[in-house]
Amino acid sequence: MNKIAEVVSCLDGYDPNALHVDKAREAIRACLTPVADRERVATRAALGRVLAEDVVPGFDVPAHDNSAMDGYALRAADLHRDGDTRLEEIGTALAGRPYKGKVGAGECVRVMTGAVMPAGTDTVVIQEVVRIEGDSIVVPAGQKRGQNTRAAGEDLKTGVAVLKAGHAIGPSELGLISSLGMAEVSVRRRLRVAFFSTGDELASVGTPLGEGQLYDSNRYTLYGMLSRLGVEVRDMGVVRDDPVQLEAAFASAAANADAIVTSGGVSVGEADYTKQTMAKLGEVLFWTIAMRPGRPMAFGRIGNAALFGLPGNPVAVMVTFYQFVRDALLQLAGRSDDFTIPLLRVISSQPIRKVPGRTEYQRGVLFRDGGEWKVKITGQQGSGVLRSMSEANCFIVLEHERGNVDAGALVQVQLFDGLA
Ligand code: AMP
Ligand code: MG
Repeated sequence: MNKIAEVVSCLDGYDPNALHVDKAREAIRACLTPVADRERVATRAALGRVLAEDVVPGFDVPAHDNSAMDGYALRAADLHRDGDTRLEEIGTALAGRPYKGKVGAGECVRVMTGAVMPAGTDTVVIQEVVRIEGDSIVVPAGQKRGQNTRAAGEDLKTGVAVLKAGHAIGPSELGLISSLGMAEVSVRRRLRVAFFSTGDELASVGTPLGEGQLYDSNRYTLYGMLSRLGVEVRDMGVVRDDPVQLEAAFASAAANADAIVTSGGVSVGEADYTKQTMAKLGEVLFWTIAMRPGRPMAFGRIGNAALFGLPGNPVAVMVTFYQFVRDALLQLAGRSDDFTIPLLRVISSQPIRKVPGRTEYQRGVLFRDGGEWKVKITGQQGSGVLRSMSEANCFIVLEHERGNVDAGALVQVQLFDGLA
């Protein structure tokens, strides 16, 4: 494992005191190694997990050419180009009950959707267009060879990996894996993430609020965001601004988790012991990121655990989590598919004030204005106004170089819905 300081010093334009968000992402990405442990789990239990092996079909799905419609399987070569064709119906094939014989010239077989194409046939004509005359059918002109059939291997081909290691398993993957008859699958071990809040001003929910205190809400937003990512969470509550308690908390977290997420105590000029303890126990970089909200953030490693020291302000915690920690944890969990949160462009219904030189994540409401989707900002955008997150349904991502936004201009948004 490269030393963190060495890795970041190799990055072009790395400046810890005015770090571009892209550069921070790049630095984090370069320093992480995914967990390697794997386990076999029952297919159902793999939902939300990360595949540890390629899934390679040992047979075609579907296994045979089959009919896509109810109708008649026939040989395209028998059909007259310019007029009706009379064919003798010699049997029936149902889904799961193939026709055993071979179909010769001038013959056809009644087929139902999903039935294996009888030997000799290559085309299905739907029942609605044929005329039945005793044991024969009359097929009108205009049929195309191969129509209304599904080819063997059309869904999955023998030997061609359908899912790569690192792919997240969702409902469709459960289905794909099952269509190969696999009752279990190899997945990466679930990532273990320990988290706690720091600050003497914090009171835990369920205890009385002392003078000058506020309730620890970051514990709950972090719990929510981490749980949605499907990681195993270790909630360590509030840790007091005391070197002994902080040291014990970091040491215990590092011993038991793959990643540690803390909130508070990482601002420039912060008087408390959080930064000191991080620096003492691990290899930690203290960043001022050119972003709003956010700015201060610590990143590094304590023991074998990746450390993310987030700012204390409730909105800043959520923004830095979604912009940095989420992707980092997915990477650590072994994801190799593209899990970037999409940036969509929509019209801003109002002017937005923006200072060039930092990336802003304003809280936005995407709404329908007649036939068109537009975005507006929620009211107050202070980093302590957690209500702004709850009122919003997206981040409006205003790029580093950008200045004020005019009403009617396009802005980038990231939807909250679907965020994991
Ligand atoms: P800090 O980054 O430690 O300077 O914290 C900035 C501000 O965020 C503090 O003054 C608190 O008002 C607030 N804050 C810090 N930690 C929490 C927390 N766990 N829950 C809610 N607010 C917090
Ligand atoms: Mg503080």
